[in-house]
Amino acid sequence: MHRFTEDNPLVYTVKGLCRVCYTCVRECPAKAIKIINGQAEVITARCIACGNCVIVCSQSAKTYYSSIEKVYQLLESGKKTMLCIAPSFAAEFTEIEDYRILVGMIKTLGFDYVTEVSFGADLVAIQYKELFEDEKAGTVITSDCPAIVNYITQYYPDLVDFLAKIDSPAIAMSKVVKEKYGEDLKLVFAGPCIAKKAESQAFDANLTFEELRIIFTEKNINHQAVIKSEFDPPYSGKGAFFPVNHGLLKSIDKTEGLGEGEVITAEGKAKFKEAIEELQNGLLKNQHLELLCCDGCIEGPGMTQRDMKLVKRLKISNYVKDKLKNLKIDDWENNIEKYSKISLARRFAPRDRRIPLPKNEEIEQVLFSMGKTSEKDMLNCGACGYITCRELAIAVCEDLAEPEMCLPFTIEQLSDTKEALKQSEKLASMGQVSAGIAHELNNPLGIITLYSSILCDELDKESELYEDVQIINEQAERCKNIVGGLLNFARKNKIHLKEINLIDFIKRSFTSFIKPDNIEIELINQMKNPLVKIDAEQMMQVITNLGKNAIDAMPQGGRLMVKLRDNDNEFIIEISDTGVGIPKENFEKIFTPFFTTKGVSKGTGLGLPLVYGIVKMHRGKIRIKSNTEPEKGKTGTTFKISIPKNL
Ligand code: ADP
Ligand code: MG
Repeated sequence: MHRFTEDNPLVYTVKGLCRVCYTCVRECPAKAIKIINGQAEVITARCIACGNCVIVCSQSAKTYYSSIEKVYQLLESGKKTMLCIAPSFAAEFTEIEDYRILVGMIKTLGFDYVTEVSFGADLVAIQYKELFEDEKAGTVITSDCPAIVNYITQYYPDLVDFLAKIDSPAIAMSKVVKEKYGEDLKLVFAGPCIAKKAESQAFDANLTFEELRIIFTEKNINHQAVIKSEFDPPYSGKGAFFPVNHGLLKSIDKTEGLGEGEVITAEGKAKFKEAIEELQNGLLKNQHLELLCCDGCIEGPGMTQRDMKLVKRLKISNYVKDKLKNLKIDDWENNIEKYSKISLARRFAPRDRRIPLPKNEEIEQVLFSMGKTSEKDMLNCGACGYITCRELAIAVCEDLAEPEMCLPFTIEQLSDTKEALKQSEKLASMGQVSAGIAHELNNPLGIITLYSSILCDELDKESELYEDVQIINEQAERCKNIVGGLLNFARKNKIHLKEINLIDFIKRSFTSFIKPDNIEIELINQMKNPLVKIDAEQMMQVITNLGKNAIDAMPQGGRLMVKLRDNDNEFIIEISDTGVGIPKENFEKIFTPFFTTKGVSKGTGLGLPLVYGIVKMHRGKIRIKSNTEPEKGKTGTTFKISIPKNL
């Protein structure tokens, strides 16, 4: 088996093919898909390998780790090889009339043996029957579906103990054939499942049926031109029912006392999640749950046959019926007795991947930032891939989604953007004119401030005249600030990227504003690679402006924190303060030019519009989190700027 990591993923996106339709986001039961750089990427640490995204992607942008090369290596290794085929094969290879042709084809590939996993299923079914009939067993969740096992160990670690400590049919079969044919045997599994590739070390390679078909094509193996061959023993009984709905129960043979109602069956993404949630909430006690991630294994992502659900079931049924007709019961019973001695005990450990639910205020704030201020704004249209607006907002807080995924919000923004574009054209021409004027005004304003300062120094501080000159000086200062802001504004329309060390850069930026004594500055560095490409001069203005705003928000003193983080795709600068916070109703206004809440002679309202423009030119995003109400926790504001690394 292969160890799967973010760098070496099991399920992943084929770069460039994703058209960002959010279908995979919607179909992923584990919230394991995130839009990164315009592509829906799988987060391996969260993925349960159910393969839903592979099934639903119309662009074939989702795929999985291929085991084909490994199988070729095994076949050429000179060792004895066996292919164990999952019982769903009858529903996959519907075009092959006689299963012995399929076995012949596999042997022509070079496999020494071909066995059916379903004998393993027979053994496993017996153990389940015992467990289900054991009154002391308590709650039991079947553990034969590896995606379900992943889901529970990752997202419901409290329920891990309920997972039946029994091997899956495939693992059971691997133990049987190793005992029968020797430990040296090289084992390959073939079935409908992607999650199998990460289930255990039992097999040297795990193929999907899709991959098996590719191998047949690559090796030119045609079902019309092979010699029929029988499966190798041990032969199976009803275990072959496993891959259809309620398959385990059928294999157990419910006529022998076990009623269907005693085991709750939940198959498919929506139903299994519901069942687990009900169990977690204590609504189901001492119940047996047969859970499958797909609607029966015959609907697994490794099948190439997507339609004909009923035909597929019928194929399995007919195959099992024929098989049972020819089964030598004595042989089977002997084998069951013989191999029942093998221990099928299995252990599961939690691998907690839960993200704590964000605070209600945080969720509310995200909803607000998406323009959802009342119940009637919650369209719950599902276009983003999340069932409700609230779910999307939670995912945004968890850093798994972005507000832009909300379609109604984005449409509204687009019309706003049109307006803004018109506005910015006006602003641009206005900017050119004002830049000219501003430039001209700069010098005389400088002279006014200089002379008024000299006058102030010379005048008696108690005199009325002093106060008047002081006002002249202050107002001239203010004009200079506005003029400076206008000049900046007019200049910003291009960026010149250069690689810099972000940590040094941030440290340098701290010297660009005056830090009052009652304010502490802290830099938290979590950069893996501090070298980034930015327009340093302009980005310096971003930090300076955010830093100044933060200091202005903390007149009584406080803490200014800058946190740097990065991943492969982006780097993030977070600037937080412990100041008064920004009231919700101002969230949308603060980026509008000339909006300021500071006293007449203090603010220009040009800081944040400039910040916004510069960040957008770096193709970055700004998110704000703020709290103004001490009852809800510490007040303060965080500006989070994320900039893509590949600009
Ligand atoms: P100015 O600083 O000149 O007022 P800005 O565009 O920089 O203009 O900011 C606009 C407004 O946004 C400020 O007047 C203030 O109300 C609000 N603001 C910005 N940053 C913060 C912050 N860190 N804490 C509280 N309010 C802030
Ligand atoms: Mg400002």
